Amino acid sequence: MDNYIIRDQNAISEIMKLRFNPLVARSAKGIYITDCSGKRYIDFSANWSVANTGYAHPDIIEVIKQQLEKLSFASTCSLINEESVELAEQLIQRMPGDFSKKVWYGSSGSDANEMIYKAISMADKKNKILTFVGSYHGQTLGSYSMSGHPMQSKSYSGNVIKIPYPYCYRCPFQKKCDSCNLFCLNYLEGYILHMACSVEHIGAIVAESVQCDGGDVPMPSGYLKGLEKLCREYDILLIIDDVKIGCGRTGDFFSFESENVIPDAVVIGKPIASGQPLSVVVGRKELLDVESGLHLFTTGGNPVSCAAAIATIRLIESEKLAKNAACIGALMLQNLKKLAEKFEIIGDVRGRGLVIGIEIVKDRKSQKPEPLMAQMISYQAYEKGLLLYTVGLYSNVLEITPPLIISEEQAMQGISILEDAIWCVKEGKFDESKLKEFSGWGIS
Ligand code: PMP
Repeated sequence: MDNYIIRDQNAISEIMKLRFNPLVARSAKGIYITDCSGKRYIDFSANWSVANTGYAHPDIIEVIKQQLEKLSFASTCSLINEESVELAEQLIQRMPGDFSKKVWYGSSGSDANEMIYKAISMADKKNKILTFVGSYHGQTLGSYSMSGHPMQSKSYSGNVIKIPYPYCYRCPFQKKCDSCNLFCLNYLEGYILHMACSVEHIGAIVAESVQCDGGDVPMPSGYLKGLEKLCREYDILLIIDDVKIGCGRTGDFFSFESENVIPDAVVIGKPIASGQPLSVVVGRKELLDVESGLHLFTTGGNPVSCAAAIATIRLIESEKLAKNAACIGALMLQNLKKLAEKFEIIGDVRGRGLVIGIEIVKDRKSQKPEPLMAQMISYQAYEKGLLLYTVGLYSNVLEITPPLIISEEQAMQGISILEDAIWCVKEGKFDESKLKEFSGWGIS
């Protein structure tokens, strides 16, 4: 039987699904995914920001093949392997900060943030962690507790306190971003650090400098630097979650480089090994050596993933992918802002490098979130040959995170398909019932 849609429905657990369309991916190359009928799609999602170097890059394939023949597996827990040491040394060198650092390996962004959750309270005996409303840090219990996305508010929150994210389009304090003077940062210092709990119990602040699953919202200029200052003043560790936007996507290898910030640790995942499972925490030696065997996984830091990561970093450098992300990202942002002028339902277009969010609303004045409309546009775009998903606190933000190898021509082609999809949905040509099983995080 060739009907994988039905077979998937019958065989694959619903609790691991987040589906926006019924695409059966058979192959992929560059920025394109091809389905089982041979139809080709431009991938504006990079499979949730994993395919930074594009699909099937010949260098990555070659390195993986060679590594499989040389040493297909060695558990970093109990054996030293050359690739994991090489990669760790490279990442330590790349990470700013004049202090001793070490590297931890896992297989997913979730297990890496889980490590942060466990290690923080042990490192300095301060048991509280501050994270942001709207943040996404993972699905394991600790990383889930740290997350502030509404879809992840179903679990208990452990020792985590959630603070307001600087979401300027929907400012939690009803301020205007050009005149607020970062009021939210003052609120954090003046209120949270003194009232929500005693500041000497706060071990760390964990932050995404562009909140992706929360709606692709970049921190306003100066916010991260201000956060770093507060952390230094109150002796709090600053942890940056770069799982989704690291490895070149924002225009720099690490997202915090543009603000000249030096975090105590950075969490990396998704694109680091071009699709091979690998997550990494690079950070202060004291934190990463807190207790032997505290957080280990049999396949974490395996040699095939590490070799793929070394090749990925090499490609980011040699193909100047961060620079491409900055240039094409700026161009796309400019064109999407022009597109917004044509549609009252586009409330906001924002981004940094190749992480861009298009917020769909009822109209610009009310700013009322329109998740159904966003979902319909995503599905309609899929039918026209473009893949993009929805994110956001209200599931009403179209996320654009293409592979970093994308060319200007491909980017413009994708935007033109998107425009076409928006017209169709606006004209009422889309059959809503198609969304029954394909509405991502849900339409509320
Ligand atoms: N951190 C961030 C910022 C993420 O966006 C995600 C995934 N969306 C995670 C952590 C969790 O990563 P994973 O799905 O690999 O566990």
